[in-house]
Amino acid sequence: MTSITSIAKRKFLLKKLLKTIQRNEAQIIDALYKDFKKPAFETVITETSYVVSDLKHTISNINSWSKPKRIWPSLLNIPSSDFIYSEPYGRVLLIAPWNYPFQLAMCPMIAAVAAGNTVVLKPSELTFHTSQIITKIVEEVFDVKEVVVVNGGAAFTQSLLEKRWDYIFFTGSVPVGKIVAQAAAKYLTPITLELGGKNPCIIDENANLEVAAKRIVWSKFVNAGQTCIAPDYILVQGKEKYNLVELLKKEITRAYGENPEESKDFARIINPKNWKRLSEMIEPSKVLFGGIINEKDNYLSPTLIDEPSLSSEVMKDEIFGPILPIISYHDEKDLDKIILSFEKPLSLYVYSNDKDFAERMLTNYSFGGGCVNDCMIHFANKRLPFGGVGNSGMGAYHGKLGFDTFSHKKSIVKKPNWGDNNLRFAPYKNKLKYLKKILSWL
Ligand code: NAD
Repeated sequence: MTSITSIAKRKFLLKKLLKTIQRNEAQIIDALYKDFKKPAFETVITETSYVVSDLKHTISNINSWSKPKRIWPSLLNIPSSDFIYSEPYGRVLLIAPWNYPFQLAMCPMIAAVAAGNTVVLKPSELTFHTSQIITKIVEEVFDVKEVVVVNGGAAFTQSLLEKRWDYIFFTGSVPVGKIVAQAAAKYLTPITLELGGKNPCIIDENANLEVAAKRIVWSKFVNAGQTCIAPDYILVQGKEKYNLVELLKKEITRAYGENPEESKDFARIINPKNWKRLSEMIEPSKVLFGGIINEKDNYLSPTLIDEPSLSSEVMKDEIFGPILPIISYHDEKDLDKIILSFEKPLSLYVYSNDKDFAERMLTNYSFGGGCVNDCMIHFANKRLPFGGVGNSGMGAYHGKLGFDTFSHKKSIVKKPNWGDNNLRFAPYKNKLKYLKKILSWL
């Protein structure tokens, strides 16, 4: 079976999935805690409730999304009835990352099934417990011909990529995204790549620093900083740097206590490899706050880094952990120099009460999506496309856009057997001047 043609069947499966996820919420929370001590509150807000809301939204809209959409005919074709049909691509391969292991496996799967595709879902091997509960839920809801979960690491994923698929949807790192794109090229398979990047967070002299500090601290340290759209580094107007740093320190302590290692609200780094990678980014002489590590538990405290050089380890690549470099700028030329020295990021954030400045930041730079006076919350609006540009990815999803991503849009023109304008038919002798006249009206 390559597609689930009946809309009623798709709806039935999604409703069953909704009930099964709701029934298993405690086990999902437990699995994420076992994988990297993700706090229950964070699992509910960023994983289970997000998926549940996505499912409800999809179930309520699937009928209208999947209906052939009638559109105005072209004057050249009149009389005709014109439509866009949404056709499932067929067999979809979904490859998911570990950082939001439930949500980033489930949401693309929901969109793919809603659009009528069959799915092979490959969750991350780094979140063993979450992958197990995902497997259990999918087995309970779907026939193996509809959706199947397959588990394995890099070599196994590469063997999957050698096969022929009708669509590949990948969420993960830039280097693996390139492997996926190369494999897809062999069969000209369409792909979506949801990747990462170095997301700037700009704070100008007109920003409300207290509000900024509170929102930045949550966005940077939720999931222990392992979020593709987290602010990667701060660019603060030099005059405001001291005040901002003091407010960030105060907010970190308010949120996670004097010793965040004891806080139940702060997750751990996913594995020793990533813990080591992050620990090596911390140059002790540059630490403004935090910098405490504990190898036993893959713990790394919320850390602020002072003015790292662009060639330092922490600025070379996406950080993807609870380390926040703070770099001061003098004018907009400095911003250009720094932001444009990196590939196009997945997100950009600007904190300012100066609307013109904020607008310039939004339009001067190319990035996936972003916010003014907040971070990350664009993700929560299902009516906004979510995806990167350039090195941070290609394609987008969420809400109806997810359904559209997994559908081929077929253009259909239906003609009655009458009403032909003989102009288009050969022989064309003496017809050109009439054709030109008609074309000039269009
Ligand atoms: P990753 O690229 O290492 O792994 C993602 C998936 O690819 C996993 O399922 C893994 O098994 C597989 N994989 C790993 N190495 C492979 C290889 N050599 N060949 C084939 N498959 C391979 O990414 P990750 O570490 O799981 O996730 C972190 C990255 O994902 C970050 O860069 C982050 O920015 C990005 N990310 C992006 C989004 C987004 O929506 N744009 C969301 C979350 C994470």
